[in-house]
Amino acid sequence: MNADSQPFRSDEEQLPSFEDLRIHYFSDKSESRKVGRYREYTTKEYAKTALGEIELRQWQDMAEKVISAHHEEALQKQLFEWVQETFPWLHTPSEQRVESLDLHMSRMFDNPLWVQFVPFNQRYRPEVLREVHLVKVKTSCCEGDGVTTKEQVEEAPNRGGTICCPNCGRFSSFEISENAPERETAKAKERGR
Ligand SMILES: [Zn+2]
Repeated sequence: MNADSQPFRSDEEQLPSFEDLRIHYFSDKSESRKVGRYREYTTKEYAKTALGEIELRQWQDMAEKVISAHHEEALQKQLFEWVQETFPWLHTPSEQRVESLDLHMSRMFDNPLWVQFVPFNQRYRPEVLREVHLVKVKTSCCEGDGVTTKEQVEEAPNRGGTICCPNCGRFSSFEISENAPERETAKAKERGR
């Protein structure tokens, strides 16, 4: 029997890691129960994770538990607000909640390859941006410069020579205008100490 098809049972003793709860994909499952002479069918949504398939409602409870164990409720609030504002294709609060929890489990806010790494951290965690190599770029789609990460510039060959435009979010060809102004300032400060 496929172990993945078993419903996940949460072990109260051992808290999963963020990575354990990262969603690989979603799946739907139909369940039926007998109601009188008939069968009643309900569809439940599942999240496939490293721990197996977890019913979405249960996954959400587990994710929230992990977040509160790490005292990162404030960060989750920011991610939820961010998703509400910048993911227009997610309409319901419950879809937005699942997305913000999954971003949290994947720790996208610490990943310089995340296309929203710069704008999200600019707004909520500016200190993080002082630790990364930022690159000023000029994209073909928009006037003016924007800031992205060295990692996203290095990833461009795998994305057809494009980066996610810091101004409009489209994937566009680009030129580097300047390397890491913030970082240079930080280094200059260190040298001055
Ligand atoms: Zn653009």
